[in-house]
Amino acid sequence: MATEILISEVGPRDGLQSISRVMPLAAKCAWIDAEHAAGVREIEVGSFVSPQLLPQMADTAAVVEHALTLSGLTVAVLVPNLRGAQAAVRSGAHKITIPFSASETHSLKNVRRTHAQMFEETRQIVALVRELAPERRPRFEAGISTAFGCTYEGAVAADQVVRLSTQLIEIGCDTVGLADSVGYANPQQIKSLVRSVTAAIGRERFAGLHLHNTRGLGLANVVAGLELGVDSFDSSLAGLGGCPFAPGATGNIVTEDLVFMLEAMGCSTGIDLQRLLEVRELLARALPGEELHGYLPAAGVPLGFHPHS
Ligand code: ZN
Repeated sequence: MATEILISEVGPRDGLQSISRVMPLAAKCAWIDAEHAAGVREIEVGSFVSPQLLPQMADTAAVVEHALTLSGLTVAVLVPNLRGAQAAVRSGAHKITIPFSASETHSLKNVRRTHAQMFEETRQIVALVRELAPERRPRFEAGISTAFGCTYEGAVAADQVVRLSTQLIEIGCDTVGLADSVGYANPQQIKSLVRSVTAAIGRERFAGLHLHNTRGLGLANVVAGLELGVDSFDSSLAGLGGCPFAPGATGNIVTEDLVFMLEAMGCSTGIDLQRLLEVRELLARALPGEELHGYLPAAGVPLGFHPHS
């Protein structure tokens, strides 16, 4: 089991894109600053997507510009296509992720593209990134969404996910991550699929897990990943988030609960739990009435808890 775990906060992207309200730029920047100050080392700060489609993400370039001023922070963004990737490159983001749905139906609904079209888009992004000087080159990741099941197609064959992962590495993506976008995964399935994918592409090409807590199995799924040596997990402060194109899907795993569990298990996240919990107040002020999730914030830190970090 890995003892140093990278938590990638995805609330400013996955969380905010799933709620209809638009968070003002200043509040987004204050949120990112506060998480950085609490020790968060990677934040997915937004998505370069059409502002007609997701007005919540319209100011992503400005958010990236601000986030790049924070020392030691990996600034990550999501891009659905080449156009988004071009904007991401212009912004100077350190990491670009393209969501690639294992389910072709979900791909059509989410980004209106078939698998063949997505491969073409991905190839063009690889070419774009490779033109850049090494010091300006962002890491390009494919995040395989609906890897563990799809609200439209139901079960997604593991072979399909392994085949897509292999092809994505072959065409030049730096890494591949697996996403349970709709909260269908269970710990057994996590182990089985992570084993198959890492065997196919190599452990060093496997980026990590993006999990949702839709059916309450989020942290159990983290433990399954940990037991296989997975050392990077996406999560969202207060479990804000979901997928606007997957009916019924609710929030990401809760960053506060994840940090608590990992630190209690003796893993180091580099995050100060108390300072992280204080960031919720900022979120509550910026999004009044929005439901904030999390067991640890409700119950409090247990007496005698000693964080590892
Ligand atoms: Zn998600």
